[in-house]
Amino acid sequence: MVRPGSTLGILGGGQLGRMIAMAAAQLGLRTHVYSPDEDSPAFDVCTEHTIAAYEDETALIRFAKAVDVVTYEFENVPGATAAILGAHTPIAPNARSLAVSQDRLEEKTFIAGLGIPVAPFAEVSGEAQLVDALKTIGAPAVLKTRRFGYDGKGQTMIRPETDPAAAWAAVGRAPSILEGFVPFEREVSVVAARTASGEFAAYDLCANEHRHHILDTTRVPAGVSAATEQQAVDIARTIADALDYVGVLAVEMFLVTGDGGERLVVNEIAPRVHNSGHWTLGGAVTSQFEQHVRAVCGWPLGETTRLGRVEMQNLIGRDVEAWDRILAEPGAHLHLYGKAEARAGRKMGHVTRVFSEKA
Ligand code: AMP
Repeated sequence: MVRPGSTLGILGGGQLGRMIAMAAAQLGLRTHVYSPDEDSPAFDVCTEHTIAAYEDETALIRFAKAVDVVTYEFENVPGATAAILGAHTPIAPNARSLAVSQDRLEEKTFIAGLGIPVAPFAEVSGEAQLVDALKTIGAPAVLKTRRFGYDGKGQTMIRPETDPAAAWAAVGRAPSILEGFVPFEREVSVVAARTASGEFAAYDLCANEHRHHILDTTRVPAGVSAATEQQAVDIARTIADALDYVGVLAVEMFLVTGDGGERLVVNEIAPRVHNSGHWTLGGAVTSQFEQHVRAVCGWPLGETTRLGRVEMQNLIGRDVEAWDRILAEPGAHLHLYGKAEARAGRKMGHVTRVFSEKA
């Protein structure tokens, strides 16, 4: 059993790894962060670190033997890397959760197979297949690469007048899926946790607004009916149980309204702590980072109760220059990731504001 004083291995050294390491330290754990990037923000706050490639078998084995359990802060961990680590130490979430979330075709097939609504989709591995898929799915539609897409990268919108050849070129002619465009009213997500023994806890549904394809603001509550909120949590639980999932996961969904009703359509899952769960740090009894540490260590989950109405705003690029004004603002929780250079589009920090009224 992992006990306080044990070492948690974290693959990936970005802000998510950094906040996991800080939560682990609070619970008396040591942390060892593995990242190929010598400027990793998580290195500032961990006990030990390794700078090596994710393909470096010798370094991976040394790392695995030096820790008691391994987790990761990003889903594109190569399958071979997870397998090498898994041969020497427990790893959570499991390899299946990684594989499913790395490939949009596998992901959509898996989620639809659970009876959960997703956008209509079709596999596209060539231009002719794209033309065929457009005949059944219709335009508007979104063409997305199966792998390595994030923050709107690796995807292109197809309108009725779009030339399929141009769309196919826009995704680099990489194996893709075509998805029907969902006319959503709002984007929402559930952040939840599951332990190896099947204990499950979800945070309140949150509403997410993006700017230039990057998450800008998260608001909780999401402003949906109680029935929709419950349905979202049920969806997250069904997915987590089906994956035998261990750790925190996020399920991103579209809220579709019309005919006076609300409908949820799942877009994707992230097998890790998630930007849309940052509000829990200061906005809920237990943060998603602490919850993740508890889950991967096999410890009881913490309470997910929300402390008020919460807004989380990402500080992207030069937004971070407002740090001193935010510090002077009563009740604002400022989190800076320690990144030296405020490049455009780079997540530099976030601020969480908790308002006393709950709804
Ligand atoms: P993703 O990389 O799948 O998270 O997509 C990035 C963003 O593109 C989402 O947050 C949505 O705003 C938009 N998007 C993706 N897929 C669809 C879809 N099928 N219908 C409508 N909008 C979408």
